Amino acid sequence: MSAFQAPTGTRDVLAPESSRFESLVARFARLAELAGYGLVVSPMFEDVALFSRGVGEATDVVTKEMYVFEDKGGRTIALRPEGTAPVVRAFVQHRPVLPWKAWYATPCFRYERPQAGRYRQFHQLGVEALGPQDADLDVEVVALFEGLRRSLGLEGVELRVNSMGDAACLPGYRAVLASYLSDHGEELCADHRTSWSRNPLRVLDCKKQACVSVRAGAPLLRDALCDACEAHFDRFLSGLGSLGIRWTRDDFLVRGLDYYTRTTFEFRASGLDAAQDTICGGGRYNGLVEELGGPPTPGIGFAAGVERILLACAVEGVELAPERATEVFVVDVVGGGSARDLTDALRRAGVAADRAFDGRSLKSQLKQADRSGARVACIVGPEEEAAGVVTVRWMRESGAGGPGPGRQERVARGDLVEAVARWTR
Ligand code: ATP
Ligand code: MG
Repeated sequence: MSAFQAPTGTRDVLAPESSRFESLVARFARLAELAGYGLVVSPMFEDVALFSRGVGEATDVVTKEMYVFEDKGGRTIALRPEGTAPVVRAFVQHRPVLPWKAWYATPCFRYERPQAGRYRQFHQLGVEALGPQDADLDVEVVALFEGLRRSLGLEGVELRVNSMGDAACLPGYRAVLASYLSDHGEELCADHRTSWSRNPLRVLDCKKQACVSVRAGAPLLRDALCDACEAHFDRFLSGLGSLGIRWTRDDFLVRGLDYYTRTTFEFRASGLDAAQDTICGGGRYNGLVEELGGPPTPGIGFAAGVERILLACAVEGVELAPERATEVFVVDVVGGGSARDLTDALRRAGVAADRAFDGRSLKSQLKQADRSGARVACIVGPEEEAAGVVTVRWMRESGAGGPGPGRQERVARGDLVEAVARWTR
């Protein structure tokens, strides 16, 4: 065992897994840009107060999971546990023109008990769209993640949706729920038995059996929605229908904080362990910009977990992007100058090319060429060098235009790049 290991709950991602990671981020970026979202890159750490306000004082993320430290200037800093608050902070600071549609891909840090699909450093892909109240924007945001799911070919994924109401109807519902819970307080889970009154909505969201039993008889938010919220939700659902996106209503899909309003949604992957099966969660937060010091500005977004999506792909056997293996290996036994120049020329022409270093023997270089997975070895020995040619040897099935494995032929040095580019295409 080496002296240093990656810290508990973190992982090194090496090739070829990293190429799946990269490919997922690239796909998401493309879909987001296609829909008019621009990349935001913001700091990996912020003033801790941004998260206590933006994520919520009473949430597990803030009370138990944040990495907080004092910097040398005496500021209390937190590593970002999530992506939304920093993006909204950037909006408030720079006030870009509305509507403002942003996407991000970022590491996040949470001090959690590590297990498959739950890490202390993980990665989120997300979007935030600020400005419009329009329920069609909610549809667009959901369709963006649905588009990613479809493009991956991930099948076992369920979309759950709900409406949280707004300032007009949520307070009334909260009071009704509180009065129901005051009769059932003793039956709640150990955590909520004492704390439910601070935030009754959180009981609905609790996964413990005791709370699940109590909530089964609780009054439902769907029966308390005001007309405006009802109309917004109807428009959202009919929009999903129009785009052929299937959904299930989940009355218990709630956020416990006042600035979350109306639409909430989650994508769950059936291939993952139930405790970690949410691959994407999102919703409207019409009060968040104001909470963080900006003008009243509606917003909606989602955050998706990269590691969980990749796990779900692995479970379903979904292949993400062919691994970009070396196509051509240049074997040079006359000093390495040809390997240096030819790999450069090949790479400029878009051919994945590699070589050996340190003046290895022919045998050792051919072995390395084989291990690299290259289809073609380009060999330069003393004879080839004198004649200004390269011996091209096919190691595996070549592209449509090339001969089969085991064959070899000589190509004039000046024609090599063009010939190889044609064969490996
Ligand atoms: P969970 O209920 O699974 O803890 P969460 O509600 O804390 O999730 P969000 O804050 O909504 O999650 O984060 C968005 C997404 O980020 C989640 O749906 C999940 O895919 C991913 N995610 C959250 N925490 C982790 C983690 N510790 N490790 C890996 N992925 C995570
Ligand atoms: Mg969590």
